Amino acid sequence: MNPSPSDTAIASDHSDHRDHSDHARPWLQMTDRETLTRFQFIKLRAGLERALRGNAFLCARLADVDIASLTGMEALARLPFTHKDEFVADQREHPPYGANLSFPLHDYVRLHQTSGTTGHPLTILDTVESWDWWAECWEAVFRAAGVGRADTVYLAFSFGPFIGFWSAYEGAKRIGALVVPGGGQTTQQRLRAMLATNTTVLVCTPTYALRLAEVAREEGIDLASSPVRVTIHAGEPGASIPSTRARIEEAWGARAYDHIGMTEMGAYAFTCQQQDGVHVNEAEFIAEVLDPTTSEPVAEGEQGELVLTNLGRWGWPALRYRTGDRVIRGPSRCACGRTLLTLPGGVLGRVDDMVVVRGVNIFPSSIEAALRQFPQVEEFRIILTRAGEMDEVEVEVECPEELAPQVEQALRQALSLRVPVRVASPGSLPRFELKARRVDDRRNLANGAR
Ligand SMILES: [Zn+2]
Repeated sequence: MNPSPSDTAIASDHSDHRDHSDHARPWLQMTDRETLTRFQFIKLRAGLERALRGNAFLCARLADVDIASLTGMEALARLPFTHKDEFVADQREHPPYGANLSFPLHDYVRLHQTSGTTGHPLTILDTVESWDWWAECWEAVFRAAGVGRADTVYLAFSFGPFIGFWSAYEGAKRIGALVVPGGGQTTQQRLRAMLATNTTVLVCTPTYALRLAEVAREEGIDLASSPVRVTIHAGEPGASIPSTRARIEEAWGARAYDHIGMTEMGAYAFTCQQQDGVHVNEAEFIAEVLDPTTSEPVAEGEQGELVLTNLGRWGWPALRYRTGDRVIRGPSRCACGRTLLTLPGGVLGRVDDMVVVRGVNIFPSSIEAALRQFPQVEEFRIILTRAGEMDEVEVEVECPEELAPQVEQALRQALSLRVPVRVASPGSLPRFELKARRVDDRRNLANGAR
């Protein structure tokens, strides 16, 4: 059932990386932990040997490391972490692309920029090989959602320097699906294009899936009876928040899947058809879930920060990268047969986005989960303020006036805290196509910067 290939087979899988006969390596997603670990570290050592020949950023950090000794998680734990700040500082010092380039500049064919929502943007380059690897990771996302060559995939995304769904665009080619790019279109045009092309798979942020549904309702389009059967979402945790996912699935008459990726790291996690949290694609990444303060691994069922090492992007490697994403370390088993690490609930938020209000720890994602139980809630905004030394939170909600007391009640139940709810008029709150910014942090405005 689960083949356990020899080292030679694993090694040849690596060296013959560009032979696509074994797409997305399904056997590796279902193998035993020992085989998977062996495979990961063979890839890691081989990749590092190549990268260290030209990568000044990596050479400076790994000067004392014996690459041959990297055989398992214990050895990995001796490597330094990489923080985003270090990449940013490196690019300032060595403009424009920094020193984390393993190969000569003329080997690079793709340029991406981070969205810059959490600080200074990064510019990242990919070689042909690294970019093919991105596509391969997206192939795994599509396959896990049951998407194949008979599908037409619509990408509701403004194709620009942000990597966003560029890699989905490439990944769809690998599964043989027809791709319809949705850049430079209004929401109405996108809806029309999807219907005209008999789109079966929609790829966009969860927020934008709801926005498309809202506009479809205004235009009298019944999306639930359209051919769209699968929606895949990234950029925000929504598709792993049960109430948000239920809203998307109901509006589209489709099954909604989550996917997680980062410009600095790769397309690293996906939902399978069990739709129970996400799987980390450990065939292409080494995952650690660590206590953010002690940096020690957390036990199964506990929360921690996800730290990732990519195994196929040797043009721009990232070792033990502190993603800042807060996750629960789930079991490494699933009814789908995969033995990959699961993250129940996907990304729960950022390690640093917790707010303490009157002694209660609050995450914006729990507010969203409570609000999305109400189908009448169209849009919302979380406002953080500070009075003296105390943080306060209130919520603006687009919903009928008479619903406000029920919404307040639901928030009180979910958070064990009274959160004032203000009703906003329909359409008055901002709408988002990419990463939604629903938290309006006004705490520093009143008191000056901390
Ligand atoms: Zn699964």
